Amino acid sequence: MHNHPILVLGGGQLGLMMAEAAIHLGVVVDRLDTANDKLMPGTSNLRVDTTLDFLVDRYAVITAEMEHLPDSGLVNGLRLSERWMNGSAFDILPGRNQQKRLLDEIGVHNAPWKMLHAQDDMLSAHDSLGETLVVKTTRGGYDGKGQWVVSRGDDQDIPASAFGELIAEQKVSFSREVSLVGARSEDGQTLFYPLAENHHHNGILRFSIAPAMGVGKLGDSANFANLANLQSEAERMLTKIMTKLNYVGVMAMECFEVDGELMVNELALRVHNSGHWSQTGSCVSQFNLHIRALSGVRFPQEPVYQPTLMINLIGCEYHPRWHQIDGVHCYWYGKERRAHRKLGHINMTGSTSFEIQQKADALRPLLDAEHQSMLDKALALINSH
Ligand code: ATP
Ligand code: MG
Repeated sequence: MHNHPILVLGGGQLGLMMAEAAIHLGVVVDRLDTANDKLMPGTSNLRVDTTLDFLVDRYAVITAEMEHLPDSGLVNGLRLSERWMNGSAFDILPGRNQQKRLLDEIGVHNAPWKMLHAQDDMLSAHDSLGETLVVKTTRGGYDGKGQWVVSRGDDQDIPASAFGELIAEQKVSFSREVSLVGARSEDGQTLFYPLAENHHHNGILRFSIAPAMGVGKLGDSANFANLANLQSEAERMLTKIMTKLNYVGVMAMECFEVDGELMVNELALRVHNSGHWSQTGSCVSQFNLHIRALSGVRFPQEPVYQPTLMINLIGCEYHPRWHQIDGVHCYWYGKERRAHRKLGHINMTGSTSFEIQQKADALRPLLDAEHQSMLDKALALINSH
């Protein structure tokens, strides 16, 4: 299979970074902008007309950078072709209710939930799940969109028409959020990165720290033992999920940590924002790993990594000097600027917290006040762990 071109459904930054990573493996990755059914060659933003026959003929493997695929003739045609990877995972996981049903079925602990068929179901949901609920649309949500945090009797913001396609989750009091990004090959080999610790603001990921123990405590043996337990628990859970779905490629598992145990929040059938740190923090990035899995290129025995802080650039102005700082790696996606939009990210890798701190100090004056406060929060965590 190696060397065959791969098609990614989606014209966003995740596919772009897959195309970039594939170059190192001698693999061509092109993208399909599913908003207008145009083909985008490699990392180019050129959009050219295409046909289903051409795509099925040219690409040995078809993957995606997003789980919510549009219901278009071209995409549906591609999903029916034998080139489409992970068909059953894409049939099940994008529906939150189906995803959670699967997790329950295979015994993977996830946030307790109930289907909301009608507004009347809110009462029994509160009775069984608690006074505060997180109500989520079964499909289409991202970056906190399509979610409502509601207390009993306070559900007027939820559109009545949404009931039937909503779930209620228990509002989990977690000590922190972590995620595991890993991959499975066609012959069942798996590879996992260390857990990353993730921080959200208004439902949007703002920064990730990997490994999740924080850098300041790298030498602390009790902390190391706790994290090693969490890591093997997370790997066991994600292996179970990927094996059940016979999944090939990178998958991400977002979790809540509650009393030292993991509870799955949601799964992403793709490379994930909380894995972007691997571009500079690991010998193999998650993008490279996904392409390896799809091209039959062996994984390394284990991912050699260095502690990394990844900070997202959300809705902000581009600063040309970001690219001038030694050891500060800026990825700017070239997207149109909009409030609350992910426009890029910055990785800072170092072998000690001091090294990361030095890089952050150089970056800090080039960030706006909001991003400065995120950076400060991240550094405080790195040093406090
Ligand atoms: P993503 O951008 O990851 O696709 P999303 O919009 O699909 O996000 P979730 O990951 O389900 O949504 O939720 C976003 C964030 O909201 C979570 O990372 C967490 O901080 C918070 N959250 C979601 N569900 C719960 C819950 N049941 N209890 C507590 N907090 C929650
Ligand atoms: Mg999420």
